[in-house]
Amino acid sequence: MSGRLAVVGLGPGDARWLAPEADAALALADALFGYGPYLDRVPARPGQERHPSDNREELLRAQEALELAARGRKVALVSAGDPGVFAMAAAVCEAIAQGPDAWRALDVAFVPGITAMLAVAARVGAPLGHDFCALSLSDNLKTWATIEQRLDAAAGAGFVLALYNPISRARPWQLGKTFERLRRHLPAATPVVFGRAVGRADERVTLATLAEADGVEADMATLIIVGSAATRLVARPGLPPLVYTPRAAETST
Ligand code: SAH
Repeated sequence: MSGRLAVVGLGPGDARWLAPEADAALALADALFGYGPYLDRVPARPGQERHPSDNREELLRAQEALELAARGRKVALVSAGDPGVFAMAAAVCEAIAQGPDAWRALDVAFVPGITAMLAVAARVGAPLGHDFCALSLSDNLKTWATIEQRLDAAAGAGFVLALYNPISRARPWQLGKTFERLRRHLPAATPVVFGRAVGRADERVTLATLAEADGVEADMATLIIVGSAATRLVARPGLPPLVYTPRAAETST
C-alpha cells in the first residue's frame, strides 16, 4: 500500500474559509499531525488518529508525518492559513531534503489555504491592491539585524508590508521597534491595520496611523498591514473607512 502526505492549509478562521480540496484531503487521511490548537479546528472523524504537537517542533513534526506516510499511511499535516506561508510546507521540504532517499519518492501534496494577510485585507478594502511584501517579525530563525534590514529595504522601496508573528511573550519589544523603524521611511499618516483572530469568534480589526501605532495593540493572533506612502482611506458615512492602495504607482520610488 502506498502512503501519502498532504500538507493542508486550514485557512485563518472557521470552516467557511476551508477550501473544498483541503476538506477532501482531511477526510481522506487516517492520521492527522499539527500544532494542537490547529488540530482542534478539524472536525473529528471515526478511525482517524491525531498527533498534536507543540508549536516549536516543526521539523520534528514534519519528520514524524513523513515517517508514517512512508509506512503506507494516509497522513495530513495541518497549518493555519496557507501551509506555504511561515508554516509547515517549508519544514516538510527541509525534512525531505535532509531525510532518507525513500522520502523523495513519496506522494506529497500541498493544499493551499487563505493566508492571514488576505483575510485581514478583505476586512478593510484593498490595502494589498498594489505591490506588497510579507515579513515574519519572529527572530527565532533569523537575527533581529536581518529583520531591520528587510524592513528598511521594503518600506524604503514603497512596498505595503504584511507583518506576521508580530509579538509573543518571548518577543515583547520587537513590534514597537518595528514601528519606530518604519517611521523613518513613511509619513506619520500612513494607515496601519491590526487584524486579530480574523474569521474567528473573537475577531477584532482596528485602524491606526503609523504615528499612533503601538506595539501593545497586538498579540500572537494578530496580522498587521502597514500601508505605503500611497495607501489611503475612503471615508464613509456611518461605516468604517475603506483602506486601499491604488493600482497605479506614483512616479518616484
Ligand atoms: N500559515 C499562516 C501563518 C502562520 S504564522 C497563514 O498563512 O496565515 C502565525 C501568524 O499568522 C500569527 O502570528 C498572525 O500574525 C497570523 N495569523 C494567523 N491566523 C490569523 C488570523 N485568523 N487573524 C490574524 N492573523 C492571523
